[in-house]
Amino acid sequence: MNGEKPKVAFFSFTCCEGCQLAVLSCEKELPDILSLVNIVNFREAMTGKSDDYDIAFVEGSISRKEEIKKLKKIRKKAKVVVALGACSSTGGLNCLKNRFPMEEVKKIVYGKGASRYPILDTIPVMPIDSIVKVDYYIHGCPIPKKEFLSVLTSLLLGKSPEIPNHPVCVDCKLAGNICVFEKGMRCLGPITRAGCDAVCVTYGTYCWGCRGPVDNPNTQAHAETLKRYGLTVDGVMKMLDLYGRCRKARTQKGNR
Ligand code: SF4
Ligand code: SF4
Ligand code: SF4
Repeated sequence: MNGEKPKVAFFSFTCCEGCQLAVLSCEKELPDILSLVNIVNFREAMTGKSDDYDIAFVEGSISRKEEIKKLKKIRKKAKVVVALGACSSTGGLNCLKNRFPMEEVKKIVYGKGASRYPILDTIPVMPIDSIVKVDYYIHGCPIPKKEFLSVLTSLLLGKSPEIPNHPVCVDCKLAGNICVFEKGMRCLGPITRAGCDAVCVTYGTYCWGCRGPVDNPNTQAHAETLKRYGLTVDGVMKMLDLYGRCRKARTQKGNR
């Protein structure tokens, strides 16, 4: 990066932009970040734009043909591409759209006005690595601030970021939570990638799997735990539909 400050760009595709908001909520750290990098694209925070950048943080999934072209251009220009959040990393909640026929989706979104949109510029939702090579992933819906800061720091030091690859249950135990299985609930923590401090369990619910699965999920142990508590695997498979729909479809097609 020639001794200059690295140029960093943020881009968003189909999403709620909540992960960019998580970056902006690093108020305390932002002055330090700005002293180390030049931010050249960040729609949520600035109007300036540039096609010259080193690191691209890409938020959102791909759901339109036009987005494919834009994403390929970003990949060509950036030395490092980081998927920012669940929508980008796994397709996230947007993949729910893929479960329904287009006519039904149109009716749900536009109601009686659906006939005004005979053709919608929309394609089945995909995570960005269905289109381009992704160097690193920051998981979560939204991303945890600390993970963004740790990945950025590693990149600036020229190191490979360490992405957690153990299940949420480890974070959950460290947080001192009582397992929700004891309360008769299901939970995706045993197969989901940690890094969020098991925040959902800490605040009274269960893990929905927003960070996607660990690399080698121990599904056998999870199934045995479910059985021990009188719960079924089917119920958990339904839970996977929320954040794991695109991955499930890929697995079913046998291409990932
Ligand atoms: S991952 Fe969640 S918070 Fe982030 S952009 Fe997608 S929907 Fe929003
Ligand atoms: S199953 Fe869920 S509630 Fe139980 S320890 Fe794991 S993450 Fe926590
Ligand atoms: S507990 Fe599960 S659903 Fe909640 S933030 Fe962590 S990975 Fe996501």
